[in-house]
Amino acid sequence: MSEGKSSQRCSSCGIFLVDRGSSSFPCPNCGNATIGRCPNCKDQSVKYVCEECSFEGP
Ligand SMILES: [Zn+2]
Ligand SMILES: [Zn+2]
Repeated sequence: MSEGKSSQRCSSCGIFLVDRGSSSFPCPNCGNATIGRCPNCKDQSVKYVCEECSFEGP
């Protein structure tokens, strides 16, 4: 609730998601955290880790 703008970061490499081509979605495990993926990590299928439940996924 504290962040209104696009301050979503890539959950894999940590860069801010600003460009088109990036995506974000709720954690498939806990549904509480939002997973962000930059185009680069998405392209290379880099693993992400949920900050809420430590779920790892492609
Ligand atoms: Zn990334
Ligand atoms: Zn999670």
